[in-house]
Amino acid sequence: MQKVRMGFDLGGTNMRSALVSEDGEVIFSNECETLAQEEADKVINRIKNLIKESVSKAEEKDLQIQSIGIGVPGVIDTDSGIVKSCPNIPHWKNIELGKIISEEFGIKTKVDNDVRVTALGEYYFGAGKGYKNILCVAVGTGIGGGIILNGEIMRGPSQSMGEIGHITLKKDGPLCGCGNYGCLESLASSLAIIREAKEVLDKGKSEIMEKQLEHGMPISAYFVTKALHDGDIEAARIMREVGEWLGIGLASVVNLLNPEIIIIGGGVSLAGNVIFNPVKEEIAKRALKIPRELVKVVPAQLGDSAGMIGASAL
Ligand SMILES: [Zn+2]
Repeated sequence: MQKVRMGFDLGGTNMRSALVSEDGEVIFSNECETLAQEEADKVINRIKNLIKESVSKAEEKDLQIQSIGIGVPGVIDTDSGIVKSCPNIPHWKNIELGKIISEEFGIKTKVDNDVRVTALGEYYFGAGKGYKNILCVAVGTGIGGGIILNGEIMRGPSQSMGEIGHITLKKDGPLCGCGNYGCLESLASSLAIIREAKEVLDKGKSEIMEKQLEHGMPISAYFVTKALHDGDIEAARIMREVGEWLGIGLASVVNLLNPEIIIIGGGVSLAGNVIFNPVKEEIAKRALKIPRELVKVVPAQLGDSAGMIGASAL
């Protein structure tokens, strides 16, 4: 009987579960909507149902599930498996998720923060393979960081280490979701890209973006990337500035942590070199010589499966 692990990625929009082999290969996966606004129990029941499907699939394929790992976008007490808070699932407060799932299925269950789980996935099976000191950065609507030092994932005494999105970079910068002004996240997340694109459109500075809007395309990071590939100067400026802010923030983190590799994932990273080149330039310009000569900046490898694959490694 082949041994597998279950990895579960709980997102604010969708939840996905996977049976993952010991070398990180997804054997089976399924998903459903999270419907995060519903009562706490309903979301928990959907998690149970999705896991039940995976368990039946494992029986059918003669696979033995060793453990369940769950990545959750929130603050987790990893020792007890309690989800203390989860901004995307508003009714969840102190949910004993680890206990609920391990009692339901009789399989040992671990719960951890989603960005940390993604970092573990990249560390064991993706771009971080072979490295022991890794910074994993997820750039989407928010900016999160997962830190692995000496091969160990860092959590901090109150589970909040790695919040690099909330480094202040600009004294009077835009308001951030955390309440502070000028955080990295307020300058380089997809929300920042959308804000800048709207400003360009308001000022009538881009015909290409106006046409995209007329064709009903929603304003997003992809919207700006698309305009850039069609030769739009303003779109190129927006993406370059986002890459610069990201690089400025990361240059400080390079000095602080001396990572061997920085792995950048999340929706915004899909823009490719438009983002990666200015990130590398700013790090080269600003970080101290010794740590900057060591560090490599690379894109994430596991894409949106990183959450499930990483969770299976818990
Ligand atoms: Zn902030």
